[in-house]
Amino acid sequence: MTTRTNLQDLAFSTRLAAFDQCPGNPHRPVATPIYQTATFEQESALDFGQYDYSRSGNPTRAVLEEALADLEGGPRAFAFASGLAALTAITRLLSAGDEILAGDDLYGGAYRLFSRILPRSGVSVRYVDATDPATLERAIGPRTRLIHIETPTNPRLRIVDLRAAADIAHRHGALLSVDSTAMSPYLQRPLELGADLVMHSATKYLCGHSDVTAGAVIPNDPKLAEALYLIQNGEGAGLGPFDSYLLLRGLKTLSLRLDRQQSSARRIAEFLRGHPRVRHAWFPGLDDHPDAALHASQARGPGAVISFETGSLETSRRIAEATRLFAITVSFGGIGSSISLPCRMSHASIPAAIRSAVDLPEDLIRLSIGIEDPADLIADLTQALAAASHPAPPPNPDRPAAAHHPHQPATA
Ligand SMILES: *Cc1c(COP(=O)(O)O)cnc(C)c1O
Repeated sequence: MTTRTNLQDLAFSTRLAAFDQCPGNPHRPVATPIYQTATFEQESALDFGQYDYSRSGNPTRAVLEEALADLEGGPRAFAFASGLAALTAITRLLSAGDEILAGDDLYGGAYRLFSRILPRSGVSVRYVDATDPATLERAIGPRTRLIHIETPTNPRLRIVDLRAAADIAHRHGALLSVDSTAMSPYLQRPLELGADLVMHSATKYLCGHSDVTAGAVIPNDPKLAEALYLIQNGEGAGLGPFDSYLLLRGLKTLSLRLDRQQSSARRIAEFLRGHPRVRHAWFPGLDDHPDAALHASQARGPGAVISFETGSLETSRRIAEATRLFAITVSFGGIGSSISLPCRMSHASIPAAIRSAVDLPEDLIRLSIGIEDPADLIADLTQALAAASHPAPPPNPDRPAAAHHPHQPATA
């Protein structure tokens, strides 16, 4: 079977299937077994084998990490229990007194981690509009050790110039970390453009089936890898063997899924752009997206997330509830299409004042396009947009009346 060293010569989709599923396994299985064991017997009282304890290392997780390192082009990868555990591990590279400069259009849970938990360890965070390199550079302070950005941002789908951000970080002695969740390594490889660290919520496209919560960090150099391994082992947030197996299983179809999702997303974005009830549609693959050219210069496709404005929260709510094929869920990146109102769901943990300062409108709808037939999705959106424009929309027989939830969602 192919080994890691010659994988690099193969096309991305070949590498998704052709990696070594079970290095060293005498039975030569073609799928990675789930090593559901906490500990491994030592060769003798004084000699360790390759594995001793699953927090420190597990063969199923190791195969996953090897595959992720290959796909992003880093020396090693680290799989974590969630995307936020992966981001937390990155913040552990800093010390009290250090500062993170973060993009201001950030995943809601990252904002919560940065604003409510990180300050306890003496690491401060400031936010900046990272889509403008000059603004980003001006914002760097003497204590800035890490620049953390997302591109495309979610849900506004704005683009940060990765090469420029890496240059700026390095000129000022800081690291650049990129949350590349919205793209996956199939579409964007930040390490090749100068980033020091790339992270994912693997819950989204890497898994693709909405059945695992997981995260990953891939550094660009062995020193950072060593530091991250100490954190993964020392804090114990590494991904368990069963979830590692599920993630490996989903990962193999990453390019197939995204090819379909992306071409459907393009059709749907064009449909939305031409629809009279849609005020503005955001999609990095539309030629009127202000950063379409920049995005095309650093990524291999626009992805499959679209957002649009309707002009009123009430209209947006009705559209979401009138759809039949789009699940109302906080997440994205799965094979099933979903719809959300980010300000009320995934980004509810960002204070309203900050949301409006970064121009995150209340009526914004985010779509994640799945693998369904795009004609069915467009027909569903057509009927939902029509239903939402009538004063009293008929009840949707496919969607049970919503239960009343007295508390705000916990951001996912
Ligand atoms: C979902 C998400 C996260 C958090 O990942 P979890 O797996 O939910 O912990 C971080 N960044 C982005 C861009 C996300 O979409």
